[in-house]
Amino acid sequence: MKALCALNPSSAGGFGIKCWPRIAELLRQHGIDYVLLADCDVPIGDQVRCFLKDNGLKNIDVVVGIGGDGTHSMVIQQLVVWMDAGQGRTLPPYAFIPLGTANDIAKSLGFHVGAAFSDRDLARAVSTIGHGADYRMDLGVVNGTPFADGFTIGLDPNILRERNVQKKRLHALRFLFQGPIGGNLLYTICTGLRFWRQTQRDVDVSVDGHRWYAGPMINLVINNMRVYAGEFEFHQSAYANDGLLDLVLFTGQRDYLRSYVLALRNYPRGLRRLAKHLNRNLQHTQGRRFDVRLSHSEPAQIDGEEFPGSDFFRVSVRAGVVPIKIPAEPL
Ligand SMILES: [Mg+2]
Repeated sequence: MKALCALNPSSAGGFGIKCWPRIAELLRQHGIDYVLLADCDVPIGDQVRCFLKDNGLKNIDVVVGIGGDGTHSMVIQQLVVWMDAGQGRTLPPYAFIPLGTANDIAKSLGFHVGAAFSDRDLARAVSTIGHGADYRMDLGVVNGTPFADGFTIGLDPNILRERNVQKKRLHALRFLFQGPIGGNLLYTICTGLRFWRQTQRDVDVSVDGHRWYAGPMINLVINNMRVYAGEFEFHQSAYANDGLLDLVLFTGQRDYLRSYVLALRNYPRGLRRLAKHLNRNLQHTQGRRFDVRLSHSEPAQIDGEEFPGSDFFRVSVRAGVVPIKIPAEPL
């Protein structure tokens, strides 16, 4: 079996590149030959695009993304662009080695990703490349750009912007914010800095051609995956292969805090049932196409990366477009 491995050296503060020697050893143990893309100076999406342009995927049996949600998103985007550009082109399965900070995609698909990714978790992820179950993953598309994980408008993108500004400002203290735990610490600090400054906007949301909501909002999430921001599950019925996207809208700061606290995914089972009951008034819906009109332009993010702000977003789903491998081995 031959794999195209796309590794983001800077994912989770350099955690990805640290893990590579062990990943290479596990690949050899599984008899998987590989081509590695891991240039520190070229974005991973550009490396994949160049590889596809020069070589196509003729001799590649599986594409392996090594990094966080942003890495998987960039690689999958390039694969889909390449597939769409030529008649009769098909994709080999895509496999995940989840070495990011939030790891929404991996968590939603049944990978075990704790605060620290253990060697056992890594071995299970590598074994999924060859022995995982086949699954057809949907993609979302916003204003023409595909996304694998989720799309957000409002407060969360502002927190992400703040994080990116502070990360540059605190470059000298970067050792504090390395790895998944350090990454989460920086996010928490930036949430505090940005939270009360977020202004409510008027929004008009149509779902599959019908008006669903008109009123105030501070944050709006459209998810392809069930897990959001690493720790939250707003709705249990969110699946990445049902041809539907899940929209959650937050009207104000109190609604935002309440909904997030009640959506924490690691509550014990009894408490989870109670939280679900208390969160029953969550503004949630599912659909295939969403038109979001805002009173003012707002920043946005897709798959954990900044996305150009606007006062109008059209979001739709491409059902089952990416063949992937999900874990089949018991935890
Ligand atoms: Mg879905």
